[in-house]
Order: sequence, then structure tokens, then C-alpha cells
Amino acid sequence: MSFSDIPVDVGPVYEGERIRAKQMYVELGGPKIETGHFELVRVRPAKEIKDGQIKVIGPDLKDMEEGSTHPIGILVEVSGPELEEDLEAVFERRVHEFCNFVNGIMHLNQRYTNWMRISKAAFEKGFNSFELLGTVLIRLYKAELPIIKQAQVTIYTDPKEIEKPYEMAMKVYNARDERARSINDEDVDMYYGCVLCQSFAPTHCCIITPNRMSLCGSISWFDARAASRVDPKGPLFEVEPKKCLNDVAGEFEGVNETLKKRSLGEIDRIYLYSGMEYPHTSCGCFEAIDFYIPEINGHGIIDRSYDGVAINGLPFSAMANQTGGGKQMPGFNGISIQYIISPKYQLYDGLQDGLKSGIETVVWMGKTVKDRIAEFLPADLVDKIATEEDVQDINQLRDWIEKVKHPIMETEGYKAAIGGEEEEEEWEEEGAMVPMGTVGMTIPGAGGVGGFKVILKNCKIHAESIIIKRIEPKRKK
Ligand code: SF4
Repeated sequence: MSFSDIPVDVGPVYEGERIRAKQMYVELGGPKIETGHFELVRVRPAKEIKDGQIKVIGPDLKDMEEGSTHPIGILVEVSGPELEEDLEAVFERRVHEFCNFVNGIMHLNQRYTNWMRISKAAFEKGFNSFELLGTVLIRLYKAELPIIKQAQVTIYTDPKEIEKPYEMAMKVYNARDERARSINDEDVDMYYGCVLCQSFAPTHCCIITPNRMSLCGSISWFDARAASRVDPKGPLFEVEPKKCLNDVAGEFEGVNETLKKRSLGEIDRIYLYSGMEYPHTSCGCFEAIDFYIPEINGHGIIDRSYDGVAINGLPFSAMANQTGGGKQMPGFNGISIQYIISPKYQLYDGLQDGLKSGIETVVWMGKTVKDRIAEFLPADLVDKIATEEDVQDINQLRDWIEKVKHPIMETEGYKAAIGGEEEEEEWEEEGAMVPMGTVGMTIPGAGGVGGFKVILKNCKIHAESIIIKRIEPKRKK
């Protein structure tokens, strides 16, 4: 496969390239374009495809003003005798990878949150038409996925013309998600893994189960199964769960083994249904972030489209930096939107707190996320989850929780978190185990006469071991 007719280099070496605002020629999609951007792959009968055809509907790159932002719709239509609809989502995820192969293109996210930047350097070298992007995509699709025999690409940039294909794309995404909700983890004996994001997050590996859709929200268990069947040595592969070590936490021997192997020994244990203990790693493509709110002992959820700061005072970008990169980060978890409405959603954390489910730990959600999933939330909980329209800070959130009688109120963690100084004294006197997230802790007798006191407020600490040594005062010879 040659790209000698493309004015910039193309290859996997350019994945991970960042294009800062100052370096960009134009921006396509992303958070500044509220709706009307998407990327979609559809499998079509061969007779409906004109192999190699590229259409640009709307202004082309050379017609765009430097520094401007535009909608972007990328529709890739493919055919081949072995292709099936289940493969569409997995092919679609490769748009991200293939665009990033181009030196001078940065592509982030997926589906209707896709976001691209074209660099000034690439434009100056002659990468000035979306036809060049279409050419690269068609060549890479056919070369990297030989079961694709024909492909055509349509790129939409006109804000009016994009409306219809955008609606069509949304219908396709919804139908895929609905199907994904039809089965549970207990119904299957095989899970799947994906390492497509390792170019950005080398220790990250998505574990995809029926109840836990991939973090990017674009690969369901069905999609992963189809992909691993057609390309067993590819980035999506089977993960045999083997022995269940903890059904509430979702800990499986086979999943731990896979994680250890795929993260090069970095991660050797995960709880699939917890955001607080041995959580799933996060790459950078997650649709939303589930974050712990220590002042309440509850959780909040924010998605990429959220503009402004969340209830904890942080914007999505700051939390994403904290969350991503392939780390296990208790209290900050990249998640898919579909996982929020799964019966397994952070189940372990909810039950640990004495709640009925994981979703009962959620006290605040960005309105865009809540609007999307409200119909699937438990009827007795949906109105008790606040959004930015209901509360603006933690004090108001606390009042809200008491007013609506959110179930978190009944947890010991919440009571301790809002307990304040008086309760800290009580804990100290009783010398009791202190619930995480509040805390006053004394270590009597350590460090000299009277001991010392360590007060940990609103924090959660995980340590493999703590060593406390008595340091003897030096004696004069
Ligand atoms: S987020 Fe997970 S499933 Fe999606 S592309 Fe990345 S590794 Fe694969």
C-alpha cells in the first residue's frame, strides 16, 4: 500500500500526535459544535457501493478559514461477502485509528462526540482537501481489514446537509445500544478485551462484557465477539473469565490474568463492578467520568459535552487528565454511558455502602447525561439525582439530598462525611474503624511522648503497606 500521492506521511507512528490550538488550521466537530457531527460505518450490499468513491458535501478544507470550527460527518460504507452488521461498530472505531495515522490530523473520541484538528503544517504541505482523507481511509480499510472488498466515503461539513445523516447515525447508535442491553454477564461464558487505545494509554485494556460496554461506548459485547471471530489476532480478543473470585465485585481469575499480560505486568487485579477498589483502567476515549464526591460519600457523573465545572469544581478536561492514561484511579473512572444503566454499574461500591445498587451512589449528574438515560434510571431515584440546574455547590447538594431524601442519606459514609468536628471527636474517643472519606485518625504513642495526631479529611488512601518505625533519640557517647 502506498501513500506517495498523499502530501503528508501516513502510518501508525503518528498515532498519539497532539495538535494544540496554536498549531491547528481548522477544528472539526468537538465540543464547540453542539450537535451535527458523527462518524458511522455501514455494511451495504456490493451493488450499492461505488468502490473508491469519495464525496465531500459542504466546504472543503481549502475553503475553510484558518482557525475556524466546522461540523464533520464521516460516513464509510463497505461491502464484502463475509461482512455482517455486527462488525459495523468495530470498523467504525478504526476511523479514530486511521485518521490518527495521518501526520497532521488529531482525532479524538467517537460516534457523535468525534473531534478532529488538522494542523497548519499539514495544510501548508498540501493536505488541503477531504478527498485526501477519504483516499487514506479507503486504502487503510481495505488493507488492514481484507474482508472489506469495496468501500466508499462521504464527508459532510455543511451544517444543513449534515442534519439527515446525523439523525440516521443517532438511530443506528440507539439500535446498537438497545441490543446490547438485552443480555447480562451471567448469560455468556466469554468476555472480550480491546487494546486499540494502547497507543495513547500503554497499560490500558478494555474488558468488554454484556453489562460493561467499552469505555468509548462504541463497542458492545456483540461487536467485540464479531470482531474477535473475524480477526482473532487483532486488537479485539477473547477473554475467558474462568473462576469467579467475587461475583459482587466482578472479579474473575481469567480477567486478572489477561490484564496482567496485556498491561505488561502493571495491572494484575480488577473489579469490573467497582470504581473505588481495583477499578477498571481508563484510556482517554471514555464517554463519561464517574467521580467520587467525598463531602457526600456519593458519586457524580459528567460527560464530554459538559461545559463548565462539575459539582466538585472541576471541568471535564481536568478530571480526564486525572482519570486517563491507563491507570487504575479509585474515585475517578472513565465509563461508557451505557454502563451507567447496567444492573452491574458500580454494584460493589453500592452494596459496600449498604445500598441496593451502584446507581444509588449517584447523587449528581451533568444534565446532558441525565437527559440521555433518564428513562432507564430507577423510577424512585431519577428525580433524586441533582443536575447543574438544581444545585451549584456542595452545600446546596447536601441540602438537596436531605430535601429529596436520596438513599445515600442512610449510609454510614454519608453520615460520617457530613458529621463535622463533633463526630470526629467521637471517632477519636471510641478508637473505632473510621469510614473512608471522612476522617480523624490518631496513632497513640507513636513518635514520642503524647503521640501525634494525623487528620485525614475527605480522602481515600490505598497502600500496600504502612511501616511505622519508632526512632530512638541518639545518645551522647
Ligand atoms: S476505549 Fe476500549 S474498546 Fe474503545 S477503542 Fe479504546 S481500548 Fe478499544
